[in-house]
Amino acid sequence: MAAGDTQPDLPDRVIVPRSDRHQVVVIGSGFGGLFGTKQLKDADVDVTMIAKTTHHLFQPLLYQVATGILSEGEIAPPTREVLANQKNAQVLLGEVTDIDLENRLVTSHVLGRELVTPYDSLIVAAGAGQSYFGNDHFAEFAPGMKSIDDALELRGRIFGAFEMAELGASRGENVDHLLTFVVVGAGPTGVEMAGQIAELAHRTLTRDFRAISTRHARVILVDAAPQVLPPFGHKLGKWTQEKLEKLGVEVMLGALVSQVDERGLTVKYKDGSEERIDAIAKVWAAGVQANKLGKTLSEQTGAPLDRAGRISVNPDLTLPGYPEVFVVGDMISLDNLPGVAQVAIQGAKYAAKEIEGRLQGKPAQPPFKYFDKGSMAIISRFRAVAMVGKLRVTGILAWLMWLVVHLFYITGFKNRVTAVMHWFVSFIGKGRSERTSTEQQIFARVALQRLARGATDLVSEPGEFDEAQRRAELEEVAAEEARLSDENKRGVKVGG
Ligand SMILES: Cc1cc2nc3c(=O)[nH]c(=O)nc-3n(C[C@H](O)[C@H](O)[C@H](O)COP(=O)(O)OP(=O)(O)OC[C@H]3O[C@@H](n4cnc5c(N)ncnc54)[C@H](O)[C@@H]3O)c2cc1C
Repeated sequence: MAAGDTQPDLPDRVIVPRSDRHQVVVIGSGFGGLFGTKQLKDADVDVTMIAKTTHHLFQPLLYQVATGILSEGEIAPPTREVLANQKNAQVLLGEVTDIDLENRLVTSHVLGRELVTPYDSLIVAAGAGQSYFGNDHFAEFAPGMKSIDDALELRGRIFGAFEMAELGASRGENVDHLLTFVVVGAGPTGVEMAGQIAELAHRTLTRDFRAISTRHARVILVDAAPQVLPPFGHKLGKWTQEKLEKLGVEVMLGALVSQVDERGLTVKYKDGSEERIDAIAKVWAAGVQANKLGKTLSEQTGAPLDRAGRISVNPDLTLPGYPEVFVVGDMISLDNLPGVAQVAIQGAKYAAKEIEGRLQGKPAQPPFKYFDKGSMAIISRFRAVAMVGKLRVTGILAWLMWLVVHLFYITGFKNRVTAVMHWFVSFIGKGRSERTSTEQQIFARVALQRLARGATDLVSEPGEFDEAQRRAELEEVAAEEARLSDENKRGVKVGG
């Protein structure tokens, strides 16, 4: 069907028939959605997972897809395949647009087809999207890193910048703007991305070009906060900054991005001074906004949303007045819980156990308690930082810990085997196995924006942008994250 043609006549609204068994609907196929569904494997229920992608995405390794280390298939196996042996689970493609709490109905859409799925219990695990703090127009020039689409588009832009620089240099042109890469946001994703681009430029690509020296590429990491890696505390943040600088990354802190366009961006310092950086390839790893389904749920329950759009839930992860509805993972605001995979996994397992327990007449579980298994971030090959309880680890030991943990959590045996091979190629050797990108990937966002609802979830709600207020908020969040980590208070019950 050509673009612009009308859809063939389809029934407006189809209600999914249900069996007599208890119906659990799970929204999302990410960490919360998948682990919640799996936990219900032996329960006497029918599970319907509705997700807007057909894959389960291992977001922590997106940056490796963007920088040519891993293939998208290795970090995003088809959910249907992962759940093939779970007979009580059905997977349906669809973007959930409405949840009717009173009538217990979930409405989803795919290409004009509407589906209404009834539930007895609901687990909402729709995650978070990128936030541009109201500056949605930045997205066109500085893609975020939340989806496979993002990673492939960034791959195209990063390797494409080197190609265009070679071409420009062959024509005798100045190519500094093509050999300058800016990563906005010095959290774990920004650090990993900056480190990888630096390794690409200074190690991997050095022999591939003739007219340019990739060693002269500038990699700049920008953040409005005063430190790198706030969730890892002050000491690890400082260590990471030193290692990044040794790797050739320029770290610009206290620098709030105030303008982004095709050719570069402008940062503003606290004293009001501005600096313009000419750079074609820019990556946005700065802000997170919880899924807008949180707003739908908030409007129906009165549960408040925080600044990042996360909804307040009861200590058992249910919504006030709706004990059959659980919200887990990146969408929730509870006890300073961080937006990490383990919060989603443990929350979803807790919700699934509660659903099964209720059917078996068991007493309610004690309130949800997050067990912090630690956090880690890679800086470059053989260099990482890790935090496990009060333990702080840096260097090759942290890197080895990272390797083992990620290998364990990558879904599927065959993905683990090929990921190890690709890591071997990139970390021991100098290669990158997945450098290919197509024209369609590079221009994907522009094409998507022409579709109604196409790229909407990649960006935040538009809004007013108050620079001073935004800077104060970012500084406050960074200071609070660093304090919680330094005092080992992440995920600890507030006031308890
Ligand atoms: C680049 C990056 C790096 C990260 N690195 C780490 C790390 O190193 N360690 C760590 O612990 N955490 C890391 N995280 C965070 C971690 O990935 C998240 O905390 C985790 O994915 C949250 O799980 P979730 O189930 O809440 O959401 P997600 O895993 O994001 O899943 C959300 C699901 O909902 C679906 N969905 C969204 N909206 C709809 C809708 N309207 N209808 C239907 N389906 C919908 C999505 O398609 C997706 O399947 C990283 C995140 C990113 C983006």
